[in-house]
Amino acid sequence: MKPKVCSFCRTVETDENPILSGDGVTICKNCVVGAYRIMIDSDQAKIKSLDLSAFSPRSLKEILDQYVIGQEDAKKTFAIAVYNHYKRIFRQHEVEDDSEIAKSNVLLIGPTGSGKTLMAQTLARYLDVPIAIADATSLTEAGYVGEDAENILTRLLQNAGGDMQKAQQGIVFIDEIDKIARLGENRSITRDVSGEGVQQALLKIIEGSQVNVTSRGGRKHPQQDFLQMDTTNILFIAGGAFDGLEEIVARRKGKNILGFNQNKRGAKEMQSLIHELEPDDLVHYGLIPELIGRLHVISTLRELEVSDLVHILTTPKNALLRQFQKLFALDGAKLTFENDALTAVAEQAIKRKTGARGLRSILEKVTQESMYELPELSGYEVVVSADSVNKHEKPLYIKMAPAKKSA
Ligand code: ADP
Repeated sequence: MKPKVCSFCRTVETDENPILSGDGVTICKNCVVGAYRIMIDSDQAKIKSLDLSAFSPRSLKEILDQYVIGQEDAKKTFAIAVYNHYKRIFRQHEVEDDSEIAKSNVLLIGPTGSGKTLMAQTLARYLDVPIAIADATSLTEAGYVGEDAENILTRLLQNAGGDMQKAQQGIVFIDEIDKIARLGENRSITRDVSGEGVQQALLKIIEGSQVNVTSRGGRKHPQQDFLQMDTTNILFIAGGAFDGLEEIVARRKGKNILGFNQNKRGAKEMQSLIHELEPDDLVHYGLIPELIGRLHVISTLRELEVSDLVHILTTPKNALLRQFQKLFALDGAKLTFENDALTAVAEQAIKRKTGARGLRSILEKVTQESMYELPELSGYEVVVSADSVNKHEKPLYIKMAPAKKSA
């Protein structure tokens, strides 16, 4: 019998590459797989750009509003930056001229726990793009002990389920970028001398170039496979608290900063100086000019106040208090926080100086005893007062009237 030959690639059938016959044509397994990839990939590309045309800065800001409390200015700037970024990738070709929209990466300046990471995560999830979050302090210059900057890209690829095309349109969030500043002229904090080297390493991946990444992460060694990742369309977001940056702005503006922080008004005025930030101030802070030159959009988040934190506990989608209430409801109990108790939790978080980040552990602590007894508390309302928060008094247990059975 004549061996079967694939009508598409003309290879002869083997055990590994079997051939299907149809109406006068044949196709081998390799061609089926190849064709499948071409079809599905182009389908996915179509879906992606279709989705994106449905977004606007306003709709992105509205999504942020559902999760991020306050930070109006930052949310707006960020929504515009993200919108422009994806417009640049997917729609640039629609206007034919000789200009090319350059990439704008984002720098988010704001204290710990003010919502920087949350903003990035929220939009990444909404846009269905992969995101990798890394801490700049864990990175080292190539060749030193620690993590290579390229590993962030490996993580992005992993978070994209190994889909290189998806990864190349993803988001990389690098937190604590201020901690790798080189020693500024006017600041005396001792810091890692390799800071500048790490900035250089980051610059290399941010610049928009082909970077060799390993598929599994870890240190590079010769036996490992390298993959080429193009970072041109990856949105880089850097975040940091930049303590003391206001003072640099104040000094540039010739303000006398002595005594500024001694009263509330002075402190507020000092904080607001951050809005007059210029790139040069960041150079003084210790970021290298080349890196600042890649972070065009600068957005500032303010320190959260008691009322913000109370909002964060109760209002956003997925609000912390609601999560705890659900845990109680699952055991047939009801968790109630009196208003004063919410304020007390917020005040404790402010004392800890960890912004909204500290809220969860405070709630854990306040509800610990009741959580322990929870399976026995079915049918009870657990009422938490300010004294339960501040003086560790046991919450009140009130027997609830049995729920009426619906007919
Ligand atoms: P950072 O500014 O240090 O990146 P995160 O965004 O990681 O802070 O915030 C830590 C946690 O605190 C978030 O997961 C979220 O639960 C809460 N959080 C912080 N800021 C806000 C905010 N503005 N609105 C709502 N929740 C917030």
